[in-house]
Amino acid sequence: AEAIETRGFETEVARLLHLMVHSVYSDKDIFLRELISNASDACDKLRYEALTDASLTADDPGFRVEIAIDRAARTLTISDNGIGMSHDELIANLGTIARSGTSAFVEQLSGDENKDMNLIGRFGVGFYSVFMVAGRVEVVSRRAGEAQAHAWESEGTGTYTLRPAERATRGTTIILHMREGEDEFLDPWRLKRIVKTYSDHIALPVILKAGADEGQTEDETLNAASALWTRPKSDITAEQYTEFYRHVGHAVDEPWATIHWKAEGTIEYTGLLFIPGSRPFDLFDPKRQSRLKLYVRRVFITDDCESLLPGYMRFVRGIVDSADLPLNISREMLQESALTAKIRAGLVKKILSELEKRSADVAAYRTFWDAFGPVLKEGLYEDFERREQILKIARFRSTKSGDDVISLADYVARMRPNQTAIHFITGDAATIASSPQLEAFKARDVEVLLLSDPIDDFWTGAGLDFEGKPFQSVTRGDIDLSLIPEAEDAGEKAAEAPEADIATLIGAAKLALGEAVKDVRVSKRLTDSAVCLVADANDMDMHLARLMRAAKG
Ligand code: ADP
Ligand code: MG
Repeated sequence: AEAIETRGFETEVARLLHLMVHSVYSDKDIFLRELISNASDACDKLRYEALTDASLTADDPGFRVEIAIDRAARTLTISDNGIGMSHDELIANLGTIARSGTSAFVEQLSGDENKDMNLIGRFGVGFYSVFMVAGRVEVVSRRAGEAQAHAWESEGTGTYTLRPAERATRGTTIILHMREGEDEFLDPWRLKRIVKTYSDHIALPVILKAGADEGQTEDETLNAASALWTRPKSDITAEQYTEFYRHVGHAVDEPWATIHWKAEGTIEYTGLLFIPGSRPFDLFDPKRQSRLKLYVRRVFITDDCESLLPGYMRFVRGIVDSADLPLNISREMLQESALTAKIRAGLVKKILSELEKRSADVAAYRTFWDAFGPVLKEGLYEDFERREQILKIARFRSTKSGDDVISLADYVARMRPNQTAIHFITGDAATIASSPQLEAFKARDVEVLLLSDPIDDFWTGAGLDFEGKPFQSVTRGDIDLSLIPEAEDAGEKAAEAPEADIATLIGAAKLALGEAVKDVRVSKRLTDSAVCLVADANDMDMHLARLMRAAKG
């Protein structure tokens, strides 16, 4: 007897599915893009496994995706000969929230259907999007190397079933029973257009099977079916780049920058990299993993090679394809390989020089900087060799920037006579601009950088300088501003108090504060406030000390 299992979807999936089933989202055609994208990933994974076990693909080596329409039965079938899924993989992948983008999506759901519907466009929901158009979905899959296939089936409402099934060869077949009113997706012309729009960049053939309608007497390949990065740049449209970015980056936005080049020299490779238009969901994940896909002669090797990009560039998406790496290289060997290190150096150089070029467009660069500046700045203390380059493209708020951001070159150009350091203050974005420590600097018209990203406390302690000017915190040590002329509108100076009175006041303050402070001193840094706290020149900067205390709890 063949056992049929009925299983409940994970709660979060159930919520997501409810939204799909009731969707009035206008771009329902994206479901096909998602299915073809998954089929392509599945073929990539198997091609890699077959490098070490050729028997996995020997019986059917030509990877492809096939689309078949049955108008009478009202079904659309998408089939691939990729890696397939085992019984347990079906449960893990199509019954739970398998990817971080989807769980971020579910977290944002408000219960307000209209609002939530708009979120679909912002997140992309992968496989589950099929329930926008299908009332019932069957997935028949056979894992490469396994003899038994399994069928997964659901109407997208609370439960799904699993049972043993027949499939002649490896791969996955997805049968969509289209809902009333979704007939457009059974129209071959409509499907051809969707594939051309969203999936032209897919490297394997996407084939419409004969018999779709009277006119369709032969199988027809609908896409260009060659790896996009191997085509000449002049043949690739902006839309094709965007769709490719969405596929490799699991993204739904537009790329902010597209960098496509061929490196020649000691090592040859092609890079097709994207800087996203908005922050990916895992940007601040503690693992700081980069997600570049590595190919060797168009064979997908891994998207899990940490050493291909430094952590501070983890927002970059895309692919690298090299002919110089051996095909049978293991992921572990890659991690250590000198060739990987060379590619990494090339990628970092290319990305930084591209950013420098693009920083000339102030408004466009601001979009990038607001999204990824806090991540890029991690490179200031991590990547010794690139510090100068990163400082050059870094942007800052300052006491003179208003709503804009400035470069360090801007800062240096308006340094005051006799000013020798780049002054900064770190702290909470909402309050640092009104810190009493800034008063003396205002009085002398000295610009101060306002640094409010958590990372700022770290790199500023790394002893950097820019064009020979050291960074100096306004909350540390004694800063002598006496050589810098006062601002023209500094106002009237208060009469100096007699020295004896000052000594009495300081003595009283020391007595009152006791162990709480190291010292109490007369200061020239204040103009309006009576007192302020500063750290000793050799001690930890105040804001950092506060962060550390908070972290200890
Ligand atoms: P994502 O593609 O971002 O991982 P999806 O919701 O599109 O998310 O798919 C979830 C998972 O289901 C995939 O990661 C993959 O493991 C599995 N999967 C989906 N479609 C296929 C397929 N055609 N062949 C093999 N595995 C698949
Ligand atoms: Mg997917």
